[in-house]
Amino acid sequence: MRTSRQLEPELRVICAPNPSPMTGEGTNSYLLGRNRLVVIDPGPEDASHLDALRAAIGGLPVEAILVTHAHRDHSPLARRLAQATSAPVLAFGDAFAGRSERMARLAEQGLSGGGEGVDTGFAPDRCLGDDELLHLEGDVIRALWTPGHFGNHLCFVWRGAVFSGDHVMGWSSTFVSPPDGDIGAYMRSLDRLEAEAARVLYPGHGAAVRDPAARIAELRSHRLAREAAILRVLADGPRQIGGLVSIIYTDTPVAMHGAAARNVFAHLIDLEARGLVVAEPELGFEARYHLATV
Ligand SMILES: [Zn+2]
Repeated sequence: MRTSRQLEPELRVICAPNPSPMTGEGTNSYLLGRNRLVVIDPGPEDASHLDALRAAIGGLPVEAILVTHAHRDHSPLARRLAQATSAPVLAFGDAFAGRSERMARLAEQGLSGGGEGVDTGFAPDRCLGDDELLHLEGDVIRALWTPGHFGNHLCFVWRGAVFSGDHVMGWSSTFVSPPDGDIGAYMRSLDRLEAEAARVLYPGHGAAVRDPAARIAELRSHRLAREAAILRVLADGPRQIGGLVSIIYTDTPVAMHGAAARNVFAHLIDLEARGLVVAEPELGFEARYHLATV
């Protein structure tokens, strides 16, 4: 069983035993507080991780279980931890909450995700609004709605630190796969997080980000570079997503090309919405894409 690690006087982390190319060393579950605790992202359905969380909690009361978003590496254990502690599960909404109208329409038309593990049964006890404040034993946590990686994604602001979930991480760029992932929303949520001027980010995976402004700028330019690369390739003629991936992602292991294809698709949906790219016969994962003629 894993043990907790102290990050600050009233903040501990336990990494869940679910390492993978998509989760890094595993999902970070955070415990805040001294006499009364708040848990952020209980993690995957895993009995040993539940044991680890319960051991770290000890006999202390848990005031709330906060969930950044409804991916299966973050949210499923919330229900069992709630049963064990009698604490309510708080999140932006269910797995479909917070989708843009456009993504909701694409999903209705049959666009499905890339199998990245949506916790479709996720149901918080109470939904948190954007900028909602949680008062906890003289302390305040603020929910920050940050869609992009996932429609119902929240970051949590606490004492100048931000728990950034999968929105901004240090070890990896963020996976954006439609219809849960939305590049336009992601870019706006980067601006939103930047405006917080956080002293540190505690992400859903990997180590703390000590220079948030630099990391956010890096992720923004990474996205803009991908977008420019897609437009450059399409300037040479129409392509399908597979063709774009093999030309653009030359520095990425082939095992990650499936994920890369979802990211490219996310960019193409955004470019189509902005009138820069046209999809034939219609917007979809198998479509052919070409530049819009101006
Ligand atoms: Zn995620």
